[in-house]
Amino acid sequence: MRISDGRHYIDGSWVPGAATAPVTEKATGAEIGTYALGDAADVDRAVAAAVRAQPAWAALLGEERAAVLRRAAAILERRADEFEEMLMRETGGVRGKARGEINAAIGKFLESASLARRAGGDLLPAFKPGKLILNQRVPLGVVAAIIPWNFPIVLALRPLGPALALGNTVVLKPAELTPIAGGQLLVEVLEEAGAPPGVINLVTGDGPDAGEPLAAHPDVAMIHFTGSTEIGRLMARIAARDFKRTSLELGGDNALVVLDDADVEAAASCGAWASFEFQGQTCITAGRHIVHESVADAYTDALVAKARALTVGDPFDAGVRLGPMISEGQRDRVDDLVARSVKMGARLVEGGTHDGLFYRPAVVTGVTPDMPLFTEETFGPVAAITVVSSEEEALELTNRCPALVNSVYTGDLMRGLAFAERVRSGMVHVNDAMGRPTGEEDIDEFTQRRWIGIQRAPLTWEVSS
Ligand code: ADP
Repeated sequence: MRISDGRHYIDGSWVPGAATAPVTEKATGAEIGTYALGDAADVDRAVAAAVRAQPAWAALLGEERAAVLRRAAAILERRADEFEEMLMRETGGVRGKARGEINAAIGKFLESASLARRAGGDLLPAFKPGKLILNQRVPLGVVAAIIPWNFPIVLALRPLGPALALGNTVVLKPAELTPIAGGQLLVEVLEEAGAPPGVINLVTGDGPDAGEPLAAHPDVAMIHFTGSTEIGRLMARIAARDFKRTSLELGGDNALVVLDDADVEAAASCGAWASFEFQGQTCITAGRHIVHESVADAYTDALVAKARALTVGDPFDAGVRLGPMISEGQRDRVDDLVARSVKMGARLVEGGTHDGLFYRPAVVTGVTPDMPLFTEETFGPVAAITVVSSEEEALELTNRCPALVNSVYTGDLMRGLAFAERVRSGMVHVNDAMGRPTGEEDIDEFTQRRWIGIQRAPLTWEVSS
């Protein structure tokens, strides 16, 4: 495995950064490489390369761009073991999580390749004799992709795959905590797959020093950002200044609702997954469990048993299901949310202790809607249980917080559907909490329309009197 040595990738070359910082293995703290601390000058060079490369890349046949992405899928598959190991080291996730991410990334490359062949335009009805009107789909130009650390490869590919397939060029800024798997290694794959110089560029570094100048660069046509709501707001403000296109994937305080007729064991099994998977550090983590009083005790007992059975440790050790949290800052934030809620009357009934970054999955009961565990996104392995006495109350509490995905458990699927139709999040699961489809909307997201009118039969123009 080539260990990251602090380089950007600009215009087809690996360029050393003026300054570097260490990348650590999260479970051991060992240094596993370095990343370049990019700044506005690096961003300028990368964007300029992307601007130069874009017209020729867009002029290729869709099939030619698709071929690069299909080759990238094959290379990623060939190097899957190496990627898996780096993902485990850099993110602290267990093998199954890393493998799932790589499989999803291979799928995203292939799905994106198909976009290049499918994104057509329209022929519009003529409004004058002899008029031919084309409504073409054209790339936006240079796309900035600013990516977080929790799923560094697949979240980078969400914008990168469709953007490249549809004729855009990209400057990628991975998270400081994961610049190797979702930065260097991913770019190596595209380089080997034959992406021409300038089509994909990598600038690593901190958010304010590298990410912000990238987002603000006048030659960047679109900002794709996945990360915190706070920085998402900043991205929206920056984009508004120059009317840039944005796609923002932000956080949310997701709810998992358990109604009185739910299969409690199945709900708890999903609830444990939804709160504890990857230490609760995903955008679809269920931060709030809203449970009907008639099943609350049984649900809590089942969830406690599941939390207790999880082994926390180094993801490379056999039997470990939860690895370390990503950073001390993140761990302390979670600790603080639990402590403040307990101070207000909640009860920590399981876990919540830690040894370094290794945090025992926690179950907290008696959480009321005014407590921090309810009102703030936890982003940690904490199942916070709020008991309600009716379905209406469950619905009202679900809709009180912005969420990416909410879930409802019930024994009656039509009741689940009726509940889901009144939930305000963009995604709702009935008797599940996992998965998110992407697809055709990528075509609209990463292209714009160009209207062209061709007058085939010459017209005579007269100035109106
Ligand atoms: P997280 O809490 O998941 O780390 P952030 O929103 O802080 O979420 O980070 C997500 C991505 O946004 C990272 O690549 C980070 O470097 C970048 N980022 C952070 N601050 C800024 C900023 N001020 N401008 C641009 N990008 C930023």
